[in-house]
Amino acid sequence: MNNMKSNLSYKKTKVLDYDNTEYFLYYMQLMSCIQKILEISDISQTFALEYEELYKTTKCRNRQNTKQLLGYLLIIKSSNVRKEIKRQLFHKYLDIILEPIQTFSEKETNLLLNNKFIWFYPNISTIITDWPEAATFCLTYKLTKSKYPCHFCLVKKNNLTNTKHNKKDMKLRNYENMQYYYNSNEEQIVSIESIPNIFWKFKNINIYKAIVIDRIHHLDLELFNYQITFTYNLLKELHGASILDKLDNRLANISRFP
Ligand SMILES: [Zn+2]
Repeated sequence: MNNMKSNLSYKKTKVLDYDNTEYFLYYMQLMSCIQKILEISDISQTFALEYEELYKTTKCRNRQNTKQLLGYLLIIKSSNVRKEIKRQLFHKYLDIILEPIQTFSEKETNLLLNNKFIWFYPNISTIITDWPEAATFCLTYKLTKSKYPCHFCLVKKNNLTNTKHNKKDMKLRNYENMQYYYNSNEEQIVSIESIPNIFWKFKNINIYKAIVIDRIHHLDLELFNYQITFTYNLLKELHGASILDKLDNRLANISRFP
């Protein structure tokens, strides 16, 4: 974090008064952070200002100087503060930090880049998280034993590993159905918290779809191993044991990193 030096100044905003305590958020202006990233010459050189097929990949995507520290989000560890308050607070933070995206994704803005104004619509495409963070963003229950533990779909817990479950019967979470249950005080039916999700205000993304569980966490939790074993057993059941040699062969052909 210390390497993400920035000459932008922090804003301080009060987000909550609770139990005689005031909670503040320190954050930088999102648009200034975006501008700073876009000013990096490696990035602005590969900037696509006209329509083109997106075959180019930019190697600077994951470099340290292409990241901006946006703010310090307070995590309340105290058990005296109710869980709903903690979750509500997190969504209030996001509401403040992401407000420019909400405004300018519907009404464009101009960014001054290399002495030229660029017509600009900011948007959120993907949010990379681990599973508990996905639940925090989507406000789904954090319990694996809840009826609908997936932040993405409304497939019952017992059906999540059922490969015979029909795709047609798979309902996805979206703003309409989640708000419907929230407004009817029936949140528990779809395993969501009784807190309005700030992303419901964002017309251009669907938070339930935009959240992607990152691969490091995936590997860390040994889910990759689980998936391979699961697929092995499934293939064996459908095509007999000889198919496994083929799969083994293909796995063995994956080159080692680096
Ligand atoms: Zn799902």
